[in-house]
Amino acid sequence: MVFSKAEIGIDLGTSNILIYEKSKGIVLNEPAIIVVDSKTDEVVSVGSEAKDMVGKTPKNLTALSPLSDGIINDFDLTAELVKRLLKKSVPTVRKPTIVVNISTNSTSVEQRAIHNALTTYGARAIHFIENPVAAAIGAELPIEEPIASVIVDIGGGTSEIGIISFGGVVAGESVQIGGNAFDEKISQLLREKHNVLIGSKTAEHLKKTIGHVHPDHPEEKLDVIGRNLVTGLPETITVSSHDIYEAMKDSLEKIATAIHKTLEECPPELSGDIVDHGIVLTGGGALFGGMKEWLMEETKVPIFIAPNPLESVALGTGDALTTITNLKQSKF
Ligand code: ADP
Ligand code: MG
Repeated sequence: MVFSKAEIGIDLGTSNILIYEKSKGIVLNEPAIIVVDSKTDEVVSVGSEAKDMVGKTPKNLTALSPLSDGIINDFDLTAELVKRLLKKSVPTVRKPTIVVNISTNSTSVEQRAIHNALTTYGARAIHFIENPVAAAIGAELPIEEPIASVIVDIGGGTSEIGIISFGGVVAGESVQIGGNAFDEKISQLLREKHNVLIGSKTAEHLKKTIGHVHPDHPEEKLDVIGRNLVTGLPETITVSSHDIYEAMKDSLEKIATAIHKTLEECPPELSGDIVDHGIVLTGGGALFGGMKEWLMEETKVPIFIAPNPLESVALGTGDALTTITNLKQSKF
């Protein structure tokens, strides 16, 4: 086997992990899920295979999202997950230089955990890049110029907002609300309204299929099956897009508040750029029905969705590999 030196970008998302290999592009895009056997502590599956098992595992197997709230809540499992996905997608690479995104408010403990995991994988050098900066590079914004670029990245566990100028974040906010919170709120509403418990994948399906952030959007309906909490029997319920809106509106408000707060922190010299160039949306939340129009009403500035919102951060870590001189090498 021929081993090659390579440079790798990783989007360590709370919902999805993407791996980028220089000269190849994105080589892996899989859910950040790991299934563990609680009796033996053995890892049974990771990524897409693990997501397929969510909600269907026998008692001794547990499907876990070790990064679920935008913070690393299990260092060992996160390390194991990342190493297995790297082994799967770039098996012949030795001593790579790795660029990995970190949340704007990630702690040094989390950074050390990521650093250690990548070192034991065999990384030669590790560089951290702040999530909004990676998203902006991936969305092809002119971040090195003295022009403000505004990123709103709505992921699974967090929404991060960043105003970037001269390659750095000049103002930013991060809230622990994203697609996972939307799914939980949908499940909660259906439990309260119909006494029916649905699985997390069903909630996500409802959100993606009929969800809309505008209350006046024409109503759409979808039938889903859950378990009635009184009878214990399976039951079909019809869910309206208006229910989804009701369930999510408080979470959406919190994201809007964080955006307003960031815009208020913007140095006045850059405010004109925001009016002229607007805000770019990245992350899976950018694809939510009506998000662009709703944010336009909320902020009164132009809103654009990045060309590949689910891939922006990974593409940004990949592009950063070529401009590595500007990146901070992690030294733990
Ligand atoms: P992370 O960076 O945290 O891994 P992603 O940017 O990959 O997150 O986004 C994942 C989130 O986006 C999930 O909660 C998923 O349900 C949501 N999502 C993906 N596609 C859509 C869509 N079409 N509509 C609404 N939400 C979506
Ligand atoms: Mg992300």
